[in-house]
Amino acid sequence: MKCPYCGFEEDKVIDSRPTDEGSAIRRRRECCKCQKRFTTYEKVESLPLMVIKKDKTRQVFNREKLLTGLLRACEKRPVSVNDLEQLVEGIESQVYNSLQREVTSKAIGEMVMSKLKNLDEVAYVRFASVYRQFKDINTFMDELHKLLKEK
Ligand SMILES: [Zn+2]
Repeated sequence: MKCPYCGFEEDKVIDSRPTDEGSAIRRRRECCKCQKRFTTYEKVESLPLMVIKKDKTRQVFNREKLLTGLLRACEKRPVSVNDLEQLVEGIESQVYNSLQREVTSKAIGEMVMSKLKNLDEVAYVRFASVYRQFKDINTFMDELHKLLKEK
């Protein structure tokens, strides 16, 4: 499996376990070159997780895409890639464990935001501003006020 950090193609599996419901196997891997750790999932191919978009079209859930969006939101923030990977993993298993094969992009976005809020507030606001597509500065400020009120 190609290392997501350095691209090296050899790794060793350091942990391997089924997810709660047994529909997937999660493997923790360590790159043989840079020693960084990453996670892969093995799933039954006939059961992809589908995301229902706003216009009702379906798309296969893409964890890389989600992770990329999160990395962008966390740019120059004290959030580790590992934290973000765990966040994405948490969301994925939450959906898988719900036994649903389809989930709305809205539901995913809300899950991401509730988790991101605990990790880093600046990243949260950035992600929310892209995700909710704030139309103007006022809706953006509303979100900030909400955030401050929750404190
Ligand atoms: Zn590596």
